[in-house]
Amino acid sequence: MTAGFVFHSSFLDHLPGPRHPERPARLEAVTARLESSGLLGELDPAAPQLLDPEALLTVHSADHLARVRAACEHAPSAIDGDTTVSTGSWDAALRAAGGVIEACERVRTGGWKRAFCAVRPPGHHAERDRAMGFCLFNNVALAAAQLCRVGIERVAIVDWDVHHGNGTQHIFEDDANVFYASLHQWPLYPGTGAAQERGIGDGEGTTLNCPMPAGSQDPDWLGVFDAQILPALENFRPEFVLISAGFDAHRLDPLAGTSLSEEAFGAMTRSLMQFADQHCAGRLVSVLEGGYHLDALAACVESHVEALVGAGS
Ligand SMILES: [Zn+2]
Repeated sequence: MTAGFVFHSSFLDHLPGPRHPERPARLEAVTARLESSGLLGELDPAAPQLLDPEALLTVHSADHLARVRAACEHAPSAIDGDTTVSTGSWDAALRAAGGVIEACERVRTGGWKRAFCAVRPPGHHAERDRAMGFCLFNNVALAAAQLCRVGIERVAIVDWDVHHGNGTQHIFEDDANVFYASLHQWPLYPGTGAAQERGIGDGEGTTLNCPMPAGSQDPDWLGVFDAQILPALENFRPEFVLISAGFDAHRLDPLAGTSLSEEAFGAMTRSLMQFADQHCAGRLVSVLEGGYHLDALAACVESHVEALVGAGS
């Protein structure tokens, strides 16, 4: 069955500023590499529709929407020190979130087996009521919330971006139906993601943080992935797996100090595919988060997508 690919040229119209690391060239590097490697031809592309802004309210507050919309209308403007918008950011953000939701719907209904969403702006730092860390709306959280609304009982989000996905954790920390697991360098921005943060209330036990020291290499990350993340997923028994796929844990990334190779991302992808095949009919959607060294990002995405279109598909 097919692996889907979500991309839209409007993602290039989100312009955070000339020296901003989260720049359109990231997606240009990703798509160029997928094309030159031949992987693009193995993916089924879908250009996402604009999401109805009302749909953002499943995860975000009305005040948050209004603030982001106003910032985009008065662009260029800064929402905080890291998070700036241009006039194209509103459409890009709505189409990014809409594309991830659409990918999940296609996988849920069997049109695609799995999918990779090459979207920006990224999402995992966006809180219910706050844009931060280059993120406006929480793409993965919106997709998980929508899956729960259409009858998926348990969704797992695995976040291997080098930064902790504070927004995703906080949105679901009291929700027993969404498991959030993160591997991240710690201490590092945004400062959340201690091992003791395991969820609250009904969601107690459905958050798993695996903070890793700077300098960690493939065996360190893959060891913790196998020893902690996979057993926790087996215990939770999700019906759908989402990946917050940041690639800034690569050794060349300028925003962090972790030392993974591109192969590590292929290995984690294959592990999650195998898990999804065994436990949730293969249903897996991967969503781009960070990754700021263009060549390293392209190489990591190649390794990731090569796995996604590979054996078992
Ligand atoms: Zn990151």
